[in-house]
Amino acid sequence: MLNSISQRLQGKVALITGGASGIGAATARLFAKHGAKVLVADISRSETSVADDHPAISYVHCDVSKESDVREAVDAAVSMHGKLDVMFSNAGVVGRNNLRMDIAALERDDLERVFAVNVYGAFYAAKHAARVMIPRNQGGAILFTASYVTGALGESGHPYAASKHATVGLMKNLTVELGQYGIRVNALSPYGIPTPLSMLIEAGVTAKVGLGGAVLEANDVAEAALYLASEESKFISGLNIMVDGGQHLKSA
Ligand code: NAD
Repeated sequence: MLNSISQRLQGKVALITGGASGIGAATARLFAKHGAKVLVADISRSETSVADDHPAISYVHCDVSKESDVREAVDAAVSMHGKLDVMFSNAGVVGRNNLRMDIAALERDDLERVFAVNVYGAFYAAKHAARVMIPRNQGGAILFTASYVTGALGESGHPYAASKHATVGLMKNLTVELGQYGIRVNALSPYGIPTPLSMLIEAGVTAKVGLGGAVLEANDVAEAALYLASEESKFISGLNIMVDGGQHLKSA
């Protein structure tokens, strides 16, 4: 049982996109365990029904590729809990044929869908989080899930890799603008974890053995998100944390 000292997000309000499954669901549970009120914004309630797991977690339907959905999800968090402290922009898709590196075979539809969710969704999340965080003048934390493909090239198809590099670029540029308001902006870049998303890539990509034989789990990414969302990282902004056991360095 956690005592109040270990409730690292006590009194905080967090919105997690793509929070119905995988990394987002693990983070929702961990944030709630640490005292946060969490709003999961997802296109699917998912079989795990994360919002039923903990009284502090609620769910709102949201397609992050639609700005109006993201605006409404942020407004829902504020109307339910009075404010927004943490925006975790985590929803993502891999697109079809994600392992295929064949630029000549690129289909415009695939490119558009991957960018609509991974890049436009990240922009909308940041925009609407900043919209409510800045006037409140109490700082805040914005996090993005990127991927270890931002540090290891040739590990995914071009649209996915480019979308995650764009996310990291957005994060770094936002750090400069939002720092003046005390809003910290960071990214997490996980290695392969067996989730519904990664199963779409290829079984071989998931559950790769990393550090000393350990296998990366969604909760390991959630722990890094907890650090970046909490006051323990109050001077950390502009960082892309590679949650990959150092794997990207092997491919460098
Ligand atoms: P997941 O499939 O378990 O979860 C993804 C969630 O995003 C799902 O709940 C899905 O419904 C939701 N989602 C998809 N499109 C959406 C949309 N348009 N609007 C709102 N929600 C939407 O996958 P995951 O592995 O937990 O993925 C989370 C993030 O982690 C993604 O950004 C992904 O690119 C990134 N990532 C995953 C891995 C991995 O190996 N699993 C590695 C690196 C990065």
